[in-house]
Amino acid sequence: MKINVTPSSTALPDAVRQAKVDEGGFGKYFTDHMIIANWHVDSGWGDAELKAYGPLSLDPATMVLHYGQEIFEGLKAYWQPDNSISLFRPDANGKRFAKSAKRLALPELPVEAFIKTIETLVKQDKGWVPHKVGSSLYIRPFMIATEVAIGVRPSKSASYILIACPVGAYFSTTTAVTVWISTEYVRASLGGTGEAKCGGNYAASLLAQQQAAAQGCDQVVWLDALERKWVEEMGGMNLYFVKGKGKDATIFTPKLTGTLLPGVTRDSILTVAKDLGYKTEEGMISIDDWRDGVASGEITETFACGTAAVISPIGGAKSEFGNWPTGDGTPGPITMQLREHLLGIQHGTIEDKHGWNVKVC
Ligand SMILES: *Cc1c(COP(=O)(O)O)cnc(C)c1O
Repeated sequence: MKINVTPSSTALPDAVRQAKVDEGGFGKYFTDHMIIANWHVDSGWGDAELKAYGPLSLDPATMVLHYGQEIFEGLKAYWQPDNSISLFRPDANGKRFAKSAKRLALPELPVEAFIKTIETLVKQDKGWVPHKVGSSLYIRPFMIATEVAIGVRPSKSASYILIACPVGAYFSTTTAVTVWISTEYVRASLGGTGEAKCGGNYAASLLAQQQAAAQGCDQVVWLDALERKWVEEMGGMNLYFVKGKGKDATIFTPKLTGTLLPGVTRDSILTVAKDLGYKTEEGMISIDDWRDGVASGEITETFACGTAAVISPIGGAKSEFGNWPTGDGTPGPITMQLREHLLGIQHGTIEDKHGWNVKVC
């Protein structure tokens, strides 16, 4: 895919940009540029354009606005100790983006084009990548159906758009989040779109998120749709349970049944945990197993993981079936060890044995 570059004439002066980068936060300020590529069923993908960040102009009958035919991704760029910038496993996000596209009847963008557009934007806006540990440039690729028509069918045209924003730590690392286990609503069912990263999954989750907040909780935990019993995910993150303590601990995560989103962070933690000498297991865990496991002392730590927050400790769970702590309310030692290790690889301070970091510039 060819990328035509038209630098912004209104890019922020260095000092103004730096103040925004230093502010931290999540998704508040966007970089000076964005990339757009258009697709049409008859002509395929056109050239990509890198240009000044700014509003899109859409006809009110544009399909995405009515039927939600949209997908997205999220990945990060990090400064390295040698003053280069690397992306973390962009190929994994590119492959998942293509899979999500297929599920939503959108065109698949070749993984090479996905990575090339990201590298081009990061190079252009490298001044926006924060230096602090735990900070990074968050990159948001997405695709929308752009055909102007209100008939219900797959759109004949689509736009792939890339934006980026500097981010600090998503959740505070020293405090654990509390979760509300929803027994009323579900995120995904077999045959649905649970495995795809699409906006619609999030739209359908917001009411449960509101209920969690009303219960004084930070996030929702989703159960399976059929039996309302098996623990699947937390909000937009995958879940992990530490069974046992110390060197003999097993790092357990719910298996990918077809309704869970296959997280890149989830996958990376399975590998990192093995590297650190722990046993790992993918399986089924019910709410009863969770509650009883904590009570018996078998489950010693619980955490969630995803690109945005990397690893976020869970301190307590609340549900219609009771409330229970998932540790002593503070982040557990293995949770923090895995977090430090993964962050270390991403920031280039711990050896990247698996070739996950892809150098951009
Ligand atoms: C994006 C996402 C995750 C985490 O995936 P990562 O690749 O680790 O960022 C987990 N669950 C859901 C529902 C998601 O949308």
